[in-house]
Amino acid sequence: MQIVVDLTRCQGCAQCVFLAPDVFALHGEEGLLYAPAVPDDQTERVRQAAAACPVQAILAGEEVTAGGR
Ligand code: SF4
Repeated sequence: MQIVVDLTRCQGCAQCVFLAPDVFALHGEEGLLYAPAVPDDQTERVRQAAAACPVQAILAGEEVTAGGR
């Protein structure tokens, strides 16, 4: 699974960090770091994080970065 986080929307609320700490990390006030290529054992957590994000900044899919628009 691949993810892209729209960092211009991210509000640094840390919901995703709480739900999937192996994939998301917060550094400083609003500096979100994440692993674009999600390990298979983290995909369910990442789906929950994407659903929980208050601004829908997390895009998750099998090929969100492939062939982009
Ligand atoms: S849940 Fe969404 S808004 Fe909150 S830190 Fe994660 S990406 Fe940013």
